Amino acid sequence: MSSLFDTHAHVNFNAFRKDADEVLRRALEAGISVTNVGSQFSTSRRAVEYARKYEGEAVYAAVGLHPIQLRDRTFEHRDDESDWELPSTEIRTRGEVFDYDAYLELARDPRTVAIGEVGLDYHHFEEGDDVEMMKDEQKSVLRGFVRLADEVGKPMIIHCWDAYDDLLSLLDEVMPEKRGIIHSFIGSYKTAKKFLDRGWMIGINGIATYSDSYDRLIREVPLDRIVVETDCPYLAPVPHKGERNEPLLVKLVAEKVAAVKGVPYSDVAKTTTANARRIFGLA
Ligand SMILES: [Zn+2]
Repeated sequence: MSSLFDTHAHVNFNAFRKDADEVLRRALEAGISVTNVGSQFSTSRRAVEYARKYEGEAVYAAVGLHPIQLRDRTFEHRDDESDWELPSTEIRTRGEVFDYDAYLELARDPRTVAIGEVGLDYHHFEEGDDVEMMKDEQKSVLRGFVRLADEVGKPMIIHCWDAYDDLLSLLDEVMPEKRGIIHSFIGSYKTAKKFLDRGWMIGINGIATYSDSYDRLIREVPLDRIVVETDCPYLAPVPHKGERNEPLLVKLVAEKVAAVKGVPYSDVAKTTTANARRIFGLA
């Protein structure tokens, strides 16, 4: 059995409130390591609590504040391709104010392996938004998290939607020492190359199984720069699209990478797992 590493899971979210332990057990029994990623303070704290609970096992935490959590609103979570919806896709965000010291404490925990998810999201602006002000706010919070990542010496997990150019120029100003993962990457190879040149890893998830639009990207990004992820409960890979996703299904993402690259599945499993362990400082 080849092991795998789901580098971006949210088993710490309410979608798993009733069965998080069963879901994590299933993953661990299948040889899958999991990093649970926080998107606000409460879910970041819960990610650390799970990682502590599974001390000695392959469950880790990332702590951060997702850019959409900076505003108080409700919207539908859906992928780019449309007809897809989960029962629990309505996302309510809280308008959290970034508290550096509170996150610092979580970030210092030995079970915390990365700072994220943090980043820029220009996709979810709404009519009437003061877009320039909101972009500035996202950038200033992101700069704060870069400082935090450098203070604790850990890599970052970055979410970016419709904002790759701004992300690149921000990183060129304040490049985090340990780099990290550009998660759920959905840009072109040309854009991916800019992140690769700057030392970042590319995170591939179930979106890659929805169509062949990402095949070229998968072919061109070297295997030693790819990590796989689920982003569960969202983005379940085909043939589970639309269902609640979970770390076990990361196998389908790795299978897609193997098929597109034309390399054995075991190579994808081995290399992406080694990549994840290296970036998270677990090697
Ligand atoms: Zn996520």
